Formats: sequence, structure tokens, C-alpha cells
Amino acid sequence: MRETNETLECWFLTGSQALYGDETLRQVAQQSSEIVALLNAGPEIGVRLVWKPVLIGSAEIRRACIEASSTDDCIGVIAWMHNFSPAKAWIAGLDALRKPLLHFHTQVNLSLPWDEIDMDFMNLNQAAHGDREFGYIETRMALRRKTVAGHASDPVVRQRIGSWARAATGWHAAGQLRLARFGDNMRDVAVTEGDKVEAQLRLGISVNTYGVNDLVAAVEAASPATVDAIAADYEASYSVVPELATGGARHDSLVYAARIEAGLRSFLEGGRFTAFTTNFEDLGGLRQLPGIAVQRLMAEGYGFGAEGDWKTSALVRILKVMGAAQPGGTSFMEDYTYHLGPGEPKILGAHMLEVCPSIATGTPSCEIHPLGIGNREDPVRLVFDALPGKGFVVGLLDLGDRFRLVANEIEIVPPDAPLPKLPVARAVWKPAPSFSTATESWLMAGGPHHSALSTAVAIETLEDFAVIAGVELVRIDDTTTTESFKRELRWNQAYYRLAQGLAR
Ligand code: MN
Repeated sequence: MRETNETLECWFLTGSQALYGDETLRQVAQQSSEIVALLNAGPEIGVRLVWKPVLIGSAEIRRACIEASSTDDCIGVIAWMHNFSPAKAWIAGLDALRKPLLHFHTQVNLSLPWDEIDMDFMNLNQAAHGDREFGYIETRMALRRKTVAGHASDPVVRQRIGSWARAATGWHAAGQLRLARFGDNMRDVAVTEGDKVEAQLRLGISVNTYGVNDLVAAVEAASPATVDAIAADYEASYSVVPELATGGARHDSLVYAARIEAGLRSFLEGGRFTAFTTNFEDLGGLRQLPGIAVQRLMAEGYGFGAEGDWKTSALVRILKVMGAAQPGGTSFMEDYTYHLGPGEPKILGAHMLEVCPSIATGTPSCEIHPLGIGNREDPVRLVFDALPGKGFVVGLLDLGDRFRLVANEIEIVPPDAPLPKLPVARAVWKPAPSFSTATESWLMAGGPHHSALSTAVAIETLEDFAVIAGVELVRIDDTTTTESFKRELRWNQAYYRLAQGLAR
């Protein structure tokens, strides 16, 4: 699967009014085009900004908002009131808008022309109060949006708009997300459960279960040529242990792992799925628990959750889209076990097999080891340490009446010592602000044991996504104290219950 944002676009809407005549409107159009060209010239936005003709009247504003909402490839709308646009004209349009909204508070000129400024200039360049009029109606209508103020040439401004645009691509991907579950939940586990209908209503994600033997049929149907090509790619891409390599005693296991990958990919492509889950308790006729196949499909951009965990799988997929073409990676993850001392406490994150090589340092090692659970043949997997760097882990939980995202900023660090006997990929990290505050806060928020770990997505983008989705996000970072976090949870509980009664 190749991530492509090439067809995606974001509309730039400029508001004005007829009061100052055609010449002023011509200049408004010219100058807003310049701003769009300036933003399009850099790599920050990631999708193409499309300039739209200047909007004045209520009917044309409404039509533009409906067209943006009905254009499949339009991920969102940026609005700017160049000169004063009376906001009553925007009510019908904003009411009809069903795409993410960014209010860009800017102006064309960086400096005031102190010596030359006259009333023509003043009448043209009125965003300072025109955008206040617009902000009022957005607030009056309780619209969820991001507001960014500053000049289009400012790198911070561009980065903040880009962060929102990435979040909007994530939202776009959520709306198209079809997730295949092979088997249901792991028995009796609570946090991986959730309301799939509500998830589709709130997030757009479509989650459905397929019999694992449907997957087995696809695995068995994979052509030998495809399977051989994948196995050859394993040998070319990774340090394959001798027993698995061509001529090795267990090469058949590598070929079967490649067969699982071929079958899984064809099943997902055939159904236009972009995320999936597996369950080691329900493997049907599969001879191995999918290991390397899952790892590589994640690296291609698929969402994945183990043990039927569809919420984390969807989250991994959305983060993959938001982090596309960025340095770093994104993986399914599980807090596994702790180092509490000596030295700074650390979390060892891993899973039975399924950690994405997009977060790896160095060339992964392709190995085979016994697995005590699942009652199948030994599975082939990639083993590696995660690349040190800053990132976050984020979990999605169902509180019964709504969803909550809980995120913890982390720093991936090298393991204190090599882990020669640990036969799975892993990441070792220090959670911010400290081990005790981070884990106490995570537990108080009800955060799950599975998460999505990303070093490719900025925390600001995650925040932007949460606003677009209307889902609570609680962040555990350097500013967090356990007491303040506890209060935030209590206040949020009240806020989100009240907010459900609001129009938006
Ligand atoms: Mn697990």
C-alpha cells in the first residue's frame, strides 16, 4: 500500500464584502492568491491548497461550504477574512460545513507602510478586525476549529497549519477506514472491547469480523511466484539467520511466513481494508501466528492491533497517514515490563511478535523462535531495537458514553544493556514527566495496555486530530502533575457530558 496525498486538497476561502467596490475586491482576490501560492511553495502543508474565488454573499458562501463538504478529496477548509466580511453571511455556510476548519488570521503585508498608509490601505487590509467578526460567529456556533495567527512566511505559522492539514488527512483516512478483524477479542479482556457502531458514527471507521479460515484460504491460494518473491525480499532486506535462509534447515518456515504475508495482503487489498486485527486464540488453519507478515504490512501503512484490538489498529492506521513521508515511524505497541532502577526508570515496550520495523534502528534480524501460546508452529519474526528519539504513545478507550484518547510523551532510549535472549522487537523509553507521574496518570485515565507509538507524528497533530474528531485527548507531558491531571479528568468528565448536548 502506497500512501499518497497527491490527489488530496484543502480549500482556501477568503471572505470580503462589496462595500469598498470592485477594485478592492480585485486586490483581495490577488492578495489571497499570493498567500495560497506562498503556502503552496513550501513542503509544510503536505496537501495542495486550492484557492477559491472571494466570497461575499450568504448564498455563495453556503454553496462553497457544501461543495467543500461533498468533494471527496477535500480534506478541509482554511478561512481568512481579508477585509471585513459581515459574519451573518457565514452562518448558513458554516452550519452546512462538514469538513475540518482552520481559521487563518493573517494579512498580506508583513510591515505597515508607515509613510504611505492611507484610507484605501486601511479599507483593504482589515483582517485584524474582520477575523474578529468571523471568530465571534465560529464561537457563537460552537464550531470546532484551529485558529492560527501570523504571516504566511513565518515557519512556525506554516508548521502549525501543516500540523492541522496532517490531522485533516488522518480524519479523511478515518472516514475511509475499513478494518478487518480475524477473530474476535481475546477472551474476557475488557479494554480492547468497545462500541463499533459508535466508532463508525464518531470516527467514520468501519470494523467488521471475518472468519480466520477466510484468511487461510487466501494464504493457501497465494501463488508460489509471489511467495518466493516475498521470501527473497526477506533475505535481501534483513539479516536472516542461517537456519531460515535458503538452504537452511528451517527455510520452509520462512517460505510459509512469506505465504501468510502474500495471503494477508491479497485479502486486505481485495476488500480495500487499511487496517486489521488478529487473535492468537483463533488461528484456524494457519500454521504460524502471523509475525513478520504483520510487521511488514504495518511498515507499508496498514493499521494493526493484536488480540482483536480494533481501536488500536485504527489508531495506528490514522497515525500512519498523519506521519506519511515524515522522519520516524509508527507502531502497534504494548507496555510490557519495567526497569525501576538503578538509574532512571524505563518502560520496555514490545509484543509477542508484532512491532513495526518503521521504528527500528539498524537492519532487523529475521529469526524463528518458539512461542508458548497459540499452539502452532514456531513463528518467524523481525527482531530489533527501536531508534532512540522523542515521540509519544497514545491509546484509545471506550468510556461507555464516549471515546477518550490518552497520550504520553516519551523518549526512546537505547537499552541499558543488550537483550540477547529477548526474541522480539522492542522499544525502551522514558515517559514524561517521570515514570510515576506518567504511569499513575495513564492508569487514572483508564489508558489501555495496547497503544500506538509514533516518532513520526507531532503531538500538536494528534491534538489537532482530537479537535477535528471531537474526541477528548488527555496529554501526559513535562507539565503534568498527578494532582492537576486528576482535576483535568474530573473537569473533562463534566465538560464532555455537557458538550454532547451542544449542537456540535
Ligand atoms: Mn497484547
